[in-house]
Amino acid sequence: MGLADKLKEVSVIDKNTFCAYKAMYDSLSDADKKALDDAWARKVPSMTILEILRSENIKSSNESIKRHRSGACKCPKPTK
Ligand SMILES: [Zn+2]
Repeated sequence: MGLADKLKEVSVIDKNTFCAYKAMYDSLSDADKKALDDAWARKVPSMTILEILRSENIKSSNESIKRHRSGACKCPKPTK
């Protein structure tokens, strides 16, 4: 990949606006987002979801999940 392509992609996610969890969430496909929403709705423990995300090589942390879901993160509110 050339420099121009890298620079074009670098500002897609504004890390100053959204927390790490939301940035990860936004990078998922629509089907994966829906499945993740469903998992939260079914009250799947965050550690279980974290393990599944990691098994798919998706980086997240229990801390960022907790902060996002409790509304303590820096995402604009209201947030999902
Ligand atoms: Zn957040």
